[in-house]
Amino acid sequence: NTKFPHPQYTRVIAVANQKGGVGKTTTVVNLAAAYAEKGFNVLVLDMDPQGNASTALGIPHDDPNQPSMYNALEGEIPLADAVQQCPMFPTLDVVPSNINLSGAELELAGYDDGTVRVQFLRNALAEYLKTCGKRYEYVFIDCGPSLGLLVLNCLCAAEEVLIPIQAEYYALEGLKMLLQSIQNVQQMFNPQLVISMMLVTMFDRRTVLSREVYSQIEQYYPTVLLKTIIPRGVRVSEAPSHDQTVITYNPQSSGAIAYREAALEIAMRGNAHPVTVRPHQPAG
Ligand code: ADP
Ligand code: MG
Repeated sequence: NTKFPHPQYTRVIAVANQKGGVGKTTTVVNLAAAYAEKGFNVLVLDMDPQGNASTALGIPHDDPNQPSMYNALEGEIPLADAVQQCPMFPTLDVVPSNINLSGAELELAGYDDGTVRVQFLRNALAEYLKTCGKRYEYVFIDCGPSLGLLVLNCLCAAEEVLIPIQAEYYALEGLKMLLQSIQNVQQMFNPQLVISMMLVTMFDRRTVLSREVYSQIEQYYPTVLLKTIIPRGVRVSEAPSHDQTVITYNPQSSGAIAYREAALEIAMRGNAHPVTVRPHQPAG
């Protein structure tokens, strides 16, 4: 039973990749569960209108009248009013999202001031962390599959970015654009922001390709690539349909074990070896 070190301050981590289906949501909910299981206070902000993180954490979000991320972003309610406790863990809180959030993208675009429109989440979160009366060790932001204004809000609210990369043929395609967006946010709005981690997901031990993808990323980003690899596993993909994380659904499955290991590695390394983005053209 390994002891996880306490972070010295609240680590706010955006899990981002504009590609869909690379494991962002799965990574958010299972890292959050792995820390909550250890008794840490964790907050998950669901910033994807599809609300998959809300589902996997057992938070009902199909009632459009229920307070959600949308209302908080719009400033109709304080973020605190949208926070719900995950039924699986007493120390895991979630701000759910629903389809209303897709409308926020357009409404944000209506603000002429480019600085104002990317800072709504940052302001709402800062206010909440100041007034909530507890200390969160980790805040995970689940980004949707785009590089639009909602995702820019996520990158402005975070201090670290974790990029999940699916071990498949086109893994590195699109990474350059993502890095460019992160760099823009760094330069214009959020100088603290660092890419602190990359995590290879859905790794298939039987294929040479999976190993090649891993070593290619290792070659480009040796300091941020996590040693822990998330294997492809059927339990991981089943868990959300039971409104669960794989950590709770099947605690001894390879996926659950790997996500706990990743959580430990992330806790141990802190945000000590970030890369400030250096744009380049990755092969592949
Ligand atoms: P994203 O949030 O980037 O769109 P998801 O986390 O929703 O990606 O994952 C996409 C799909 O792949 C989901 O159906 C999910 O259950 C499945 N999946 C994610 N990680 C794994 C894994 N390690 N093994 C098997 N299936 C996975
Ligand atoms: Mg997702």
